[in-house]
Amino acid sequence: MGTFLFDSIVFGPVKSRRLGISLGVNLLPTNSKVCSFDCIYCECGWTNAVSSGKLPTRQSVRESLEEKLAEMLEDGEDLDVITFAGNGEPTLHPDFAGIINDTIEVRNHFFPDAEIAVLSNSTYLHKPDVVKALLKVDQNILKLDSGIDATFRILNQPKTKVTVEQIVENLKQFKGNLILQTLFLRGTYKGVAIDNTSPEEISRWLELLNEINPKEVMVYTIARDTPAENLERVSVDELRQIAHRVEALGIPVQVTG
Ligand code: SF4
Repeated sequence: MGTFLFDSIVFGPVKSRRLGISLGVNLLPTNSKVCSFDCIYCECGWTNAVSSGKLPTRQSVRESLEEKLAEMLEDGEDLDVITFAGNGEPTLHPDFAGIINDTIEVRNHFFPDAEIAVLSNSTYLHKPDVVKALLKVDQNILKLDSGIDATFRILNQPKTKVTVEQIVENLKQFKGNLILQTLFLRGTYKGVAIDNTSPEEISRWLELLNEINPKEVMVYTIARDTPAENLERVSVDELRQIAHRVEALGIPVQVTG
């Protein structure tokens, strides 16, 4: 089994480890991965581009969603959450804010009890329309894999000049109304040892959590094949130990091993 790409705008529903019964929405191309990061663990493989002219239109996203939700309703299917994920970073779509407004309308019409979640790598939070849209959804799940810049550069391989400090400043503007997600792993990449569970890493990460003060934290590890070789999962026991330290700050944590 290798890494994979989603081949449609709307995919699933699938039983998500973290979110329940989830219908995915992919705002990126169906034949390539477009992202501002090139994470060494990304289940979609290596990044092909940072931007692309071939993104689905706002109208086609709305129509695909309406069609699928109408079908699910007719078939009596359950739905917990509509999740923006897919082949890269959803917030880079130029119509992201409009698409979120459409999705709220469509959700309210077909499945008013379902939540809307966005999984984002936190690199477009300098854009006020992106922040405003993320504040409208039920679960804005924003990535921070390390509080140390050198580790961040190896793990996430940012394609732009963003730093941990800038990301943290941007996360603080949510005033706690965000869910922070961190993937823990260890291994080697290009001959360099990497471990974002080391005492130094966890202590800096906890300091930043204290500053960001998210309403929840999600900690998880690798679940599928990764583009880089020599990466290891972190055990559920270790994730729980990390989670206890987050709980000690008064922040609820979800652990997915
Ligand atoms: S931010 Fe997400 S989509 Fe982008 S490279 Fe990392 S894991 Fe993949």
